[in-house]
Amino acid sequence: MVQTRLFIGGQWVDGASGATIDVHDPHDGSLIASVAEAREVDVDRAVTAAAAAFDDWRQWRAADRGRVLLRLADLIEEHAAELALLETRDTGHPIRDAQRLDLPRTAETFRYFGGMADKYQGSVVPVERGFLDYVVREPLGVVGAIVPWNFPLMFTSWKLGPALAAGNTAVIKPSELTPLSTLRIAELATEAGLPAGVLNVVVGYGATAGARIAEHPDIAKVTFTGSTAIGRTIVAASQGNLKRVHLELGGKGANVVFEDADLTAAVNGSAFAVFHNQGQACIAGSRLLLHKDIAGEFLERFTALAASIAVGDPKDPATEMGPLTSPGHRDRVLSFLKVADDEGDTILSGGRAPADPLLADGCYLEPTVVRAAPDHRIAQEEVFGPVVVVHTFGDEDQALRIANGTDYGLGAGLWTRDLSRAHRFARDLRAGMVWVNSYKRVNPGSPFGGVGLSGYGREMGFEAMHEYTEAKAVWINIDADIPPFYPRG
Ligand code: NAD
Repeated sequence: MVQTRLFIGGQWVDGASGATIDVHDPHDGSLIASVAEAREVDVDRAVTAAAAAFDDWRQWRAADRGRVLLRLADLIEEHAAELALLETRDTGHPIRDAQRLDLPRTAETFRYFGGMADKYQGSVVPVERGFLDYVVREPLGVVGAIVPWNFPLMFTSWKLGPALAAGNTAVIKPSELTPLSTLRIAELATEAGLPAGVLNVVVGYGATAGARIAEHPDIAKVTFTGSTAIGRTIVAASQGNLKRVHLELGGKGANVVFEDADLTAAVNGSAFAVFHNQGQACIAGSRLLLHKDIAGEFLERFTALAASIAVGDPKDPATEMGPLTSPGHRDRVLSFLKVADDEGDTILSGGRAPADPLLADGCYLEPTVVRAAPDHRIAQEEVFGPVVVVHTFGDEDQALRIANGTDYGLGAGLWTRDLSRAHRFARDLRAGMVWVNSYKRVNPGSPFGGVGLSGYGREMGFEAMHEYTEAKAVWINIDADIPPFYPRG
């Protein structure tokens, strides 16, 4: 049984319009659930509930707010098997990835911010004698969180963890495609002791519910993960009340393999970098830059690995790659392969739906490797699928030019045994995160976010707590003489 209604002010309610959104399993297109649809008026109700809850929640002892999040982390672990299956059915994540990545990361993020709640503190500024100037970090108010479909469970924890720990209340809108795990989190949060109204979940379409969150005058901050195009509309819509905006947008991660790299590690790591979650990751290493001396051997091994990836029903523990999350998205990914073909790029491996008739009704695509010119569309635009483009380079300068040659700047990686080169290249890469001899590492303590068209602001760590608080400076005159600017009496 999954929750299929909206969660507003601590109550499970239908949307005012009575409309519902059908949620499908991307493995075979079957209907999993029909969920109440939130429209603008429902968002307004949720914001009213969140605003009413804020005055109390912000005054809770920080440690007590933390205890609720710690308890929620425990409950997520207790319900890990059920949540992993829900996420797998909703998104197409292979169950083994949901179990070993999504679930532990979600629990650990809530636990990290639960622990952070009473350790995040203000400061005292050494100002002129006679004054005490202290700085407190205050919650902002109602946070609107808009989440995409690629990692719904994890992103819910990335946004709610710091927002709630800091004393904000929240209205979260999961993607209309994948709302189920977020609704379940709301149930578990209630069981963990979260007061009514502190967390509200509105499932709705972007153009209605999402847009209302972005423009709502009583929302203090919007945190958005999604495409760069929608990120721009969020910024525009935020201008009415000048709300704070935090944008985690797309990426086109460069993954650079130098001639001195450990090739076995680089081949395996580069496959994980791009094919994990069917490539539907903003930090995917979707551009593979190979030094010309190792390109031949690397590609032989890499394409063999890609062709051997077990694509299939994500509920099967042996499956290494599931379906893309929706038919519309699979068509979009395929359209990029058509563009690549039109521009004269070469598909080295994959590029089709798998031949297995059991997968015929699902949104499947083989792991795909394309040799493309760096300025071609498939090498510049985010495909967000199991598709990697390959370029070769002759020296470090050329590698850097290609790596930094898109408008995005989220994650990037490099493989080398040369320590100086690793640091030099990491310094010069235009990216929010760099992995050396690894790829796609995330941790709740390490800031996550991008530069350029990948957005601004950071999830995770102390950086996230800054994002969800504002500094207030308080000046106390202890024994200072007030200079006589206006000498009277
Ligand atoms: P999307 O931008 O279409 O949708 C994201 C969310 O925004 C959804 O909840 C959607 O309903 C909502 N939305 C759509 N239109 C809206 C509008 N006008 N106003 C307000 N909300 C609106 O993106 P998507 O297709 O769901 O997700 C894939 C994209 O997300 C990719 O581009 C990917 O790179 C990006 N992404 C970025 C990160 C990151 O951390 N940087 C992480 C994951 C995904």
